[in-house]
Amino acid sequence: MRHIAIIGSGPAGYYTAEAAQKHWGDDVKVDIFDMLPVPYGLIRTGVAPDHQSIKAVSRRYEQTALSDNVRFVGNVAVGEDVSIAELQSLYDAVVLATGAPNDKPAGIPGEGAENVFGSASFVGWYNGHPQFAKLAPDLSVGTAVVIGNGNVALDVARILAKTTAEFTGSDIVGHALHALEASHIDHVVILGRRGPHQIAMTPKELGELAHLSRGCPRVDPADLPPREDDALLEPGQRKSVDHLRSFAVIPEDFRCDKPVEIEFDFFASPLRIVEQDGRVRAVEVERTRLDEQGRAVGTGETYQIPCGLVVTCIGYKTSPIAGVPFEEAAGRFANHEGRIVPGLYCVGWARRGPSGTIGTNRPDGFGVIERIAEDIGSGGGKQGRPGFDALAQARKLDVVTFRDWKKIEEAEAGRAREGAPREKFTDVAEMIAARETP
Ligand code: NAP
Repeated sequence: MRHIAIIGSGPAGYYTAEAAQKHWGDDVKVDIFDMLPVPYGLIRTGVAPDHQSIKAVSRRYEQTALSDNVRFVGNVAVGEDVSIAELQSLYDAVVLATGAPNDKPAGIPGEGAENVFGSASFVGWYNGHPQFAKLAPDLSVGTAVVIGNGNVALDVARILAKTTAEFTGSDIVGHALHALEASHIDHVVILGRRGPHQIAMTPKELGELAHLSRGCPRVDPADLPPREDDALLEPGQRKSVDHLRSFAVIPEDFRCDKPVEIEFDFFASPLRIVEQDGRVRAVEVERTRLDEQGRAVGTGETYQIPCGLVVTCIGYKTSPIAGVPFEEAAGRFANHEGRIVPGLYCVGWARRGPSGTIGTNRPDGFGVIERIAEDIGSGGGKQGRPGFDALAQARKLDVVTFRDWKKIEEAEAGRAREGAPREKFTDVAEMIAARETP
């Protein structure tokens, strides 16, 4: 019997568990740990609440979770309740599937000003992550600047522009929905330090901006490269650029009969956050141009975008773990094809940094199981589950099981507003209490 501990119950964690089952069948036991009492990580608290079709992938993870040889070990903080070294002594392989939950800092002055947030906290706020549920961003301002040209920037801009009716069927948490209902934001600037050909946005997500009932996207045609250059792009990127072209209007001719203007400001690199009394008042940016390698270089021309809210959506970093080699610049664990050292592995964003889609984690999971199989060979045979259970009992850990989670899930569904799949608990104690639901 092989015993595998996976730390993190997001997509990377569940695909790894699925791969272990496919590889060893009944000859493996997998424990999936999560510090929260609820599973699915990024699917629950990262994927946008109005993208329910993406979140539906959790049904596949549930199939894995419900099998006899996989179990969910919720409400256990690895690093606090139990150390990595202890897990390594108990399990034949320990896999870090901890994602990349921390914001990459923009590294500009003023980043700490009030009403400036990183996307991890802002997305966590509208998705009800217990760590960020109390963020309370001030939306009584007119202009929001969203820094970054990736899909997270699009998520944030879209959420800021949507009406309550457009959230029907979503699982946006009540506190965020109410705050957005009262929002005064009528201008969202999406800031890109490079140009339309360099965006990291995908066509479907960009296309959604065209159909917002309250928002008008706008691109300055002067920022668009000659149309014939689009032929050099790969097809997906070309489609994205087609969307940007469809949003092109000369600034002087821009008329929007909807209340929220969503402006793409390309070739604009943030220099500093301008504060007044500790609050953001503007973002100062420098006009850029592309050098021969396609990098943004400053032109020396600067200007300010007055605003009252800033969300930086410029990528994430994995949380380092004491004693585990870490690549600071890439924000991930140092590894070779998922192997940190024999017995300790990483997968998903913790392995390769925050890129790719949910599905990219599947081959990652299967890849790391190959490495583990190479290292364990026909060996294995550490204590595994019984060893951890003895430790949990001795430390009086309040482990939340998958069966408990199903109770919590039922309670969240039971308190959902009309048309919504659930109203998430945003407090750990409330989640734990909900498992007692009759
Ligand atoms: P991302 O795709 O890596 O985009 C980050 C953006 O931030 C890039 O445009 C980058 O510009 C910019 N940036 C980085 N550092 C910057 C700085 N110091 N100043 C200004 N701009 C800076 O990251 P993400 O948007 O966080 O998304 C993470 C992953 O999740 C991606 O793979 C994404 O596709 C995925 N995701 C998918 C969906 C979906 O499918 N619906 C939704 C959300 C997220 P440069 O290119 O110039 O570096």
